[in-house]
Amino acid sequence: MNIGIAGVGLVGRVLALNLLQRGHTVTLFDEDTAYGDKAAGITAAGMLAVFAELESAESVIFDHGKEASKIELLDRAALKELEPDLDQHAKAFFIPHEGQVDAQRFMKASSNYLLAHPDVTWNEETKVTHVLDGTIRVGDEIKTFDWVFDARGVGAQGEMDDLRGVRGEVFWLDAPEVNITRPTRMLHPRYKIYIVPRPNNRYVIGATEIETEDKSPMSVRSSLELLSAVYSMHSGFAEARIVNMLTNCRPSLRDNLPRIEHSNKMTRINGLYRHGYLLAPAVVEEALKEGVNA
Ligand SMILES: Cc1cc2nc3c(=O)[nH]c(=O)nc-3n(C[C@H](O)[C@H](O)[C@H](O)COP(=O)(O)OP(=O)(O)OC[C@H]3O[C@@H](n4cnc5c(N)ncnc54)[C@H](O)[C@@H]3O)c2cc1C
Repeated sequence: MNIGIAGVGLVGRVLALNLLQRGHTVTLFDEDTAYGDKAAGITAAGMLAVFAELESAESVIFDHGKEASKIELLDRAALKELEPDLDQHAKAFFIPHEGQVDAQRFMKASSNYLLAHPDVTWNEETKVTHVLDGTIRVGDEIKTFDWVFDARGVGAQGEMDDLRGVRGEVFWLDAPEVNITRPTRMLHPRYKIYIVPRPNNRYVIGATEIETEDKSPMSVRSSLELLSAVYSMHSGFAEARIVNMLTNCRPSLRDNLPRIEHSNKMTRINGLYRHGYLLAPAVVEEALKEGVNA
């Protein structure tokens, strides 16, 4: 089939990769460049946190993580064995079956792969105004396909009544004095932060969650809260260097759960909220099974 995808953020890419694997031809449209930074998928920390997210997420998110996991309570000695750099803390919970995707590397690698693929046409810096009935509309032009997908994240507002953006801010810190090897969270009633390790002692520190679609730079309050919390987790962050501060909006629906909508020759996938990296493979799989049947 000849398939059109509007939005080449996280969901658009996972869709394209799945469709190519099944032998289809894919035409992509995004208002950003292939290596741009508009997608929430490029800001994400990429944690695959089925269990840790239960602290604040809907239990249905948990249902998507099929594997059972035992959560272990660690005392100081056990924590020291697992993460020696965190031994100033008296106790911790260890969740063995969680992980992470390096979101920025995924976005770059998928851009390289899709741009080089003979069955892909990528229309960069092309704003889509409507996706409907096998067509993608760009300005006055209407492009026709065997099937179309709307994966524009927050950009699909106007097509889904209850779609909103939820602001999130993250820091990237280079911290040569810190050696944490696993995604780590601080459990605190007010400051919910995570530390996600990347190669060469780089750490993604996030993330705020604020009910606004404002994508302007990080606020003083957020930076104070994130950095104080991370310093209280590990004093080695005192001499870390701030290499990036990013803001983006998570595409979210009223119930904060993902939604797949099918109609004539069209599927919309949206609302992946805080869990895009965790859920996109399963949600895309479900969408392809029920809709286009590709
Ligand atoms: C700070 C932060 C931290 C996060 N951390 C995690 C995490 O640790 N783990 C996790 O699983 N998830 C995380 N997420 C969530 C994850 O990033 C999102 O759930 C996911 O990116 C949503 O994917 P999407 O494809 O629907 O939207 P996006 O990734 O935002 O992609 C939408 C794409 O559509 C394009 N677009 C929009 N409008 C138009 C238009 N009119 N025409 C053409 N193109 C358009 C945009 O340019 C963009 O490329 C985080 C998000 C944020 C903001």
